Amino acid sequence: MMRLNSYQRTGVLNKAELKRRGLIPSLERLRTGPVVIVECIENIPCNPCADACPRQAITIEGGLTERPQVDFNRCNGCGICVARCPGLAIFVVNYAYSKTEATVTLPYEILPRPEVGENVAAVNRQGKKVCDARVVKVLDSKGLDRCAIVTVAVPKSFWNDVRGIVLRRRK
Ligand code: SF4
Ligand code: SF4
Repeated sequence: MMRLNSYQRTGVLNKAELKRRGLIPSLERLRTGPVVIVECIENIPCNPCADACPRQAITIEGGLTERPQVDFNRCNGCGICVARCPGLAIFVVNYAYSKTEATVTLPYEILPRPEVGENVAAVNRQGKKVCDARVVKVLDSKGLDRCAIVTVAVPKSFWNDVRGIVLRRRK
C-alpha cells in the first residue's frame, strides 16, 4: 500500500514538506533580508506569481501546470507577488527585521482591514493561534484587486509558523 505523506493525509502543508521541496530559504539567505516563500505544491494551471515578479525570481518551467520554482537570491522581498496569488499561497518573511522579531507579510482578503499598530492573533497553516503579532504595514489599493498585503511583526522564532492573522475585534 502506498504510504501517504502528511500533506496528502491532512491537506495542510507542513514545514518539513516545504523544506523537502526547496521552498524554504536557507538561514543564511534569511539573515540577509526579506525573501519570498511560495507555498504552492499542486500542479494547477496558474502563473500570476511568475508574471508578477519584476526580478524573475519565480519561474514556472515546462508548462502552465508545473509548480513554481523560486530563486531566493533574485528575490528582494518586495511583496508584489503576494496579492497576485489566487491561492493566497505567497508570503514574504523578513527574518532580519530586528534582533528579537521577524516580519511576515501575508495576503488578507477580509474586511475590515487591520490597522498599523494593532495587536492581532497570529495563526499557523492550520489556523491555530501561535503567538501575538503587531501590524506594522498595510497596503490596500484598487490595484491589489481586493486583497490587502499585511505585514506583522512576530517573535523571531515563529517566522516559519505564522501564516495568517485574526483581528481581536472579530474574535
Ligand atoms: S517578493 Fe518581489 S522579488 Fe520576490 S518573488 Fe515576489 S515579486 Fe519577485
Ligand atoms: S499564483 Fe499562487 S497558486 Fe498560482 S502558481 Fe503561483 S503560487 Fe501557485
